[in-house]
Formats: sequence, C-alpha cells, structure tokens
Amino acid sequence: MDATNDPKLRSFIPVAAESHFPIQNLPYGVFAPTPTEPPRCGVRIGDFVLDLAVIQETGLLVSASLPEGVFAAPCLNYYMACAPDARRLARLLISGLLREDEPTLRDDAVLRGRALLPVESVTMQLPAEIGDYTDFYSSREHATNVGTMFRGKENALMPNWLHLPVGYHGRASSVVLDGTDVRRPRGQMLPPDATEPVYGPCRLMDFELEMGFFVAGQENRLGEPIGIGRTDDHIFGLVLVNDWSARDIQRWEYQPLGPFNAKNFATSISPWVVTLEALEPFRCAPPKQDPPPLSYLRSNRNSTYDIQLEVALQTEMMTTPQTICRSNFKYLYWTIQQQLAHHTVTGCNVRPGDMMASGTISGADKSSYGSMLELSWRGTEPLQLDDGSERKFLQDGDTVIMTGWCQGDGYRVGFGSVNGTLLAATP
Ligand code: CA
Repeated sequence: MDATNDPKLRSFIPVAAESHFPIQNLPYGVFAPTPTEPPRCGVRIGDFVLDLAVIQETGLLVSASLPEGVFAAPCLNYYMACAPDARRLARLLISGLLREDEPTLRDDAVLRGRALLPVESVTMQLPAEIGDYTDFYSSREHATNVGTMFRGKENALMPNWLHLPVGYHGRASSVVLDGTDVRRPRGQMLPPDATEPVYGPCRLMDFELEMGFFVAGQENRLGEPIGIGRTDDHIFGLVLVNDWSARDIQRWEYQPLGPFNAKNFATSISPWVVTLEALEPFRCAPPKQDPPPLSYLRSNRNSTYDIQLEVALQTEMMTTPQTICRSNFKYLYWTIQQQLAHHTVTGCNVRPGDMMASGTISGADKSSYGSMLELSWRGTEPLQLDDGSERKFLQDGDTVIMTGWCQGDGYRVGFGSVNGTLLAATP
C-alpha cells in the first residue's frame, strides 16, 4: 500500500462506488480530445480524462523529472520507458492533484476546463505502439480442457506444461482497440470426416478471455535476461484482452508450430492500462505450483492479482447482454512475473510497449470457462441464451463484452471493458 492507493483517498471529481475509475486507480490511456487535435496521454478519473500533456506543460509534474513532452506523444511508449521511480513519482503527483483537499486544479476553472475532459467527448486510441505481441497459455484449466478435447484426457497437458509458461509469438499489427468490429476470417480447414482441406469462412469462431501486460522500463540488452526478481520494474500495467480465435483453422494448422492464421486476424484490448501500483492492494497467492519450477522461475514474492472477470454476449436479438462466464485472473497457474522471466531467459530483448497476453483464463467450474470452445464443450453442449437461441460458437452480429475489476472496501479498481462485434466474412 502506498499514498496513491489508500482506500480512504477521495477526489474532488465525484466517483460512484461501482465506478471502475476512482482516484485509487488512475489508469493511463491515449486519447484525441477532438477529431482535429493530435492524440496524447491521459489518466481516467470517474467519467473524466485528465490531459497529462496539459498538466506536464503547465509545470505540475516537474519534480518527476520526466522527459519533456512525454505525455504529448500519441502513445505511452515513451512514458513506459521511464524508470520505475520516475513513474511512481508521476503517479503520486497526479494523484495529489486530483485529491479533494488539493486546490491547484480543483479551484482553477481555466485549467480544469483545459485539462479535465468528459470521457464521452474524447476518442480513445490504442495505448501503445505495440512492437511485439506474445500470447501465453497459462491457465491450467484451459490447457487441460483444450487438451482433453483435442488429444484425450490422458494426454491433456503436454509434458512441458507444468515446467514452463508455454507461449507463442503473436501478431502485433492486428491488435485493435475496444469497439472495433471484427470480421470473420477466411482460411483453410479440414472439415470433420473430410480427407481434403477446404478454403472458406471460419465456421467455429470463438473469443478468448485474457488479460495482457505492457512491458516497461529500459529495453534489456540483447543477451541479458530479466531476472524474476526484477520483472516488476519491467511491467507497466494490464488491460483486458479478447484473443479472437478461429477454431477450425486452428485445429488443422496448429501442429507442429502452434497457431498461425487462427489467431492473427484480430486481438481486441481495452483502452485503459491499470498500473501494477494500482493493483498492489489486490495481490494474492497464485495456485500452488507442483512440481516446483526451475530456479529462474522461482521467486520468494511470487504472487498474482485478484481480478474478477466477466464475459457477456449480446446477440442481434437481445436488448441487454447476457453474462456467460465469470472467471478470475488469480486462477492462472503461471504469473506475469514468471512469463516475463521465461520470455527473456534466452536473452530475448523486450521493449517498452510490447504486449504479453495471459492465455485464456478459465477456472475449475464450468461457468468460469473463458471460451465458447469450453463453454459449449466443442459444440456438444450448446449454450442456451435469453433470446431463445443457442450457441455452439459465435454467429455473425454477436457482440462479445469482457469486463474486469478488483473489489476494494467500498470502491473498485477496474479495467472498463473490451467490446467487439463479429461481422460476416467478406463475400
Ligand atoms: Ca490465446
């Protein structure tokens, strides 16, 4: 706990108890104030965005010693590259400016008008220029479910799974922001009982409930791993991730090198990056790891975060979304610290703004499965929906809504949501 996430802190901006964005959160994002103004960085407070470019220009963040104009950039990469102490101090100063007992911003009508913008008046952008995107596979329950369906119960977990956080290098160019429509992909697949593959629109479209973190700090030099004890200094914060997946394409292509076309057409993320500092009060123990991991994956502070997650589905016939999954980030077997340590153990260099997703976050209970593949058990147990229809996989026009938050005593530190509507394949 530090001065920025004290549950008793209050802002002069009114924030409802169920809001995801109280003063204890202050997530970073990139926004355009108007269609003609260049995007810049801000933090969210209640239903407002604080324009950090204006705040820095006004001289209110001087003692953090940040590079000049770091928040005037159209991405958070330059701020993510700053040293952890500078970022912590900046957060402390921003939090201080928004406190109910601090008059600097509260009582300056002109500055308030320039720096505090209603969130509905701005246009959100991707928070970072994502140089590289990696997707892990860190939920034991998800890996077991998928393995059981694809290879049978006996071979569900591959022999390496309990020893290392399995992952693959994903596609950064197709990471899209919340609210972006996603087109059903076309590709090559082998229909059931067919002997020859076909080309056409994916028939088994799916979502994957995930979270992702952004890499922070100075790039580690090529050849120099980030030891697990230093990983927190290299993790900026987390967002919600929907890793759209084409299951029939995946099934045909995934051996021997893993997913390719099945995962490279769209990955949706939420716009606000919640920092590790804001998540600190919600640290908790991860699942027990047995067998114990090798020394480079072992930390005396191994911990994760208690983040409640939900997926809702809204079909074209529904007036309100229907919750179809309730999960939690803490179910993940491998932690983000272990993921980053493993990613760089070879000396692989990672850069500020790189994004690493968790893999589908499923729990033990069927209601906590984080994909349609698992919820409908590969289509054998269709989901019954409120509009009278049923779903084995996603249909054109379906909107997938993911949300997540940490529940504090009388407040929430949340991620907002990531939404995406599935469009029909191009004719
Ligand atoms: Ca995934």
